[in-house]
Amino acid sequence: MDSIYFLDHYGFFPYRRKSGKGAKPHISLRFNFGEVFDVHIDTYAGKGSSYINLITHAHSDHYGQYNLDNPNAIASQETARMLSVLNGKRFIGRTFEIGKEIKLNGLRIKTYPTEHIFGSSAFLIESESRILITGDVKDYRKLPRCDVLITEATYGKPDFTFEEEIDKLINEAKNSVLGVYPIGKAQRTAKILSENGYSVSGEDKITKLCKAFDIDVSNEGDVKLVSPRNLYSHSGRKYILTAQRFYRIPRIVISDHLDFNGLIDMIEHCNPEHVIFYHGKPSEELLQRFRSSILKDFAVLSEEKLANS
Ligand SMILES: [Zn+2]
Ligand SMILES: [Zn+2]
Repeated sequence: MDSIYFLDHYGFFPYRRKSGKGAKPHISLRFNFGEVFDVHIDTYAGKGSSYINLITHAHSDHYGQYNLDNPNAIASQETARMLSVLNGKRFIGRTFEIGKEIKLNGLRIKTYPTEHIFGSSAFLIESESRILITGDVKDYRKLPRCDVLITEATYGKPDFTFEEEIDKLINEAKNSVLGVYPIGKAQRTAKILSENGYSVSGEDKITKLCKAFDIDVSNEGDVKLVSPRNLYSHSGRKYILTAQRFYRIPRIVISDHLDFNGLIDMIEHCNPEHVIFYHGKPSEELLQRFRSSILKDFAVLSEEKLANS
């Protein structure tokens, strides 16, 4: 199983661009409609004119910030707004409303919510085959079926099994400081808390981002949101909101991702013939789970096996 296999069977060539000794992050898909056309996913801007950059969401490890000046970049309206607020610069690419279709010469691209963070979107490319690119996923239920699934495996190991603790969050938040990632988790948490009667305050970056999405966060409140690394300097009642276990601070499990079982459910739901993991590493257990059952000729093309170009 290699990039040529995908070209032969599904009409696109997955590869990673070279960068010095290594490869640029994430993945590119090459199509041939008489001329070569590249779809770059969550990576640096392409070169030449015959390409697009798809940005699944505004987290910095998905490289939207390097595509603000890229007229061929495509992001949801919310992702574009978030990138602009974060970088103090206008996004000049094309934007779409999640759920709407993007028409390009030769390709139809449908968009779907993934509920990972505000604005996060999956893309279904329909050409010779149905190729679904998800980015990071929190809720897969609105995703369509596809032939090839290009997805993440942030929690690709069986020990990453968790239940979210929304009730604990609502019960424990009073007079506490909560550590949350400013992009994504802060907006979700602020929304949950204010819907449950809390007045929420936040550090500057969090306040700015929340305000851009009309979420009520002010300077004073009965619960404060700060970045995880700033949590250490606060005394008193505090929690880190994550499914990760490496913090030494009391934890409330709130996650922007599917857990191990959720990833399996997503793959079953999308029913692909092949999966390419382009972000995060799948464990042997995850791969084994599918080799033995569900998918026809299930194979995984992980990042290191992709062709470089
Ligand atoms: Zn993310
Ligand atoms: Zn990510």
